[in-house]
Amino acid sequence: ASADEPAVVPAVKLRPEILASPPYRQGRPAAADAFKLSSNENPFPPLDGVIDAVVASGAFNRYPDASALALREVLAARTGVSPENIHVGSGSVALLSQFIAAAAGPGDTVVYPWRSFEAYPGLVTVAGATSVQVPNRADGSHDLHALAAAVDDTTRVVIVCSPNNPTSTTVSAAAFEEFLARVPSDVLVLLDEAYAEFVTDADAVQGLRLTGRYPNLVVLRTFSKAYGLAGLRVGWAIGPVEILDAARAAAIPLSVTQPAQAAALASLEREDELLRRVAELADRRDRLHAELTAQGWFIPAAQGNFVWLATGDATDAANDALLAGGIVARAFPNSGIRVSIGEEESVEKLLPITQRIVDLLP
Ligand code: PMP
Repeated sequence: ASADEPAVVPAVKLRPEILASPPYRQGRPAAADAFKLSSNENPFPPLDGVIDAVVASGAFNRYPDASALALREVLAARTGVSPENIHVGSGSVALLSQFIAAAAGPGDTVVYPWRSFEAYPGLVTVAGATSVQVPNRADGSHDLHALAAAVDDTTRVVIVCSPNNPTSTTVSAAAFEEFLARVPSDVLVLLDEAYAEFVTDADAVQGLRLTGRYPNLVVLRTFSKAYGLAGLRVGWAIGPVEILDAARAAAIPLSVTQPAQAAALASLEREDELLRRVAELADRRDRLHAELTAQGWFIPAAQGNFVWLATGDATDAANDALLAGGIVARAFPNSGIRVSIGEEESVEKLLPITQRIVDLLP
């Protein structure tokens, strides 16, 4: 064809539900003088020992161990299960995708609370299944009764997120066990505990205490948040072997890289130091929560490394004020703003702004 002939664009048939599905919305980047509190990242840089382990890990001309056995063995020893009961993925979002695809397809439903982690709807759509979103209660917490009531013959997966992104609420251990008793045992329950290490409420569910007791429960954890490895992409799942084997079959092979496996192992070796940082962040969160409450905000008990400002119709105006003040948070139009716990200075910068914007609320 000559240059002035129009290119022939073949009418490729793409899935309409995929075309209609918005791409994942990433937390916005921040200018150099602003604080990036939009992605629930850990403000601490990786420990030197972790970086050294990453550098020492390759032979990058070789493929990684596809099953991440060394990492699974360490996680299994710590949690008192067999390595077969642990599955590692390139972030817990990859694991979510695998478990949803392993259990749900066209004609099936996946039930989850809303608002919750923004990736859930897209992952369900990619699997070809249908989302059933169950509204949270007015305080942003999950309504587990309504969630269990939404399960029917079409349901293959139910997701519970504790602490919930973006409202930072937890479900109690007692309520979660009641919920498990109501969900049929042939429906996969995914407990997404991406922020588990930040939880200080003794009544909150702790998924690792439940493993081995329920044949349909899989708990998801990640190295992205508490361990500060978001950029390397490592998450893990713990649960019954048959369900994990199905996820392994649904996984893209070899996606957990060698440096990522090495960094996760090195982080576990340095867990004391990393968990001290987690405690510092949880402390900072509790102080921020108390200050915001004193300013007149109603904020449900926050248990993740983030707090939820229920700004409703004033969200755009409130977010503009935050941006102007050098705070980049995650705004959900007409709903609220999620602010991650970052550096101490970010809290000092944040509080005078929230003091002003609390007056915008009805
Ligand atoms: N679950 C929840 C609730 C999250 O908020 C996130 C990250 N935003 C993830 C899972 C995924 O984290 P990662 O893939 O980095 O492990």
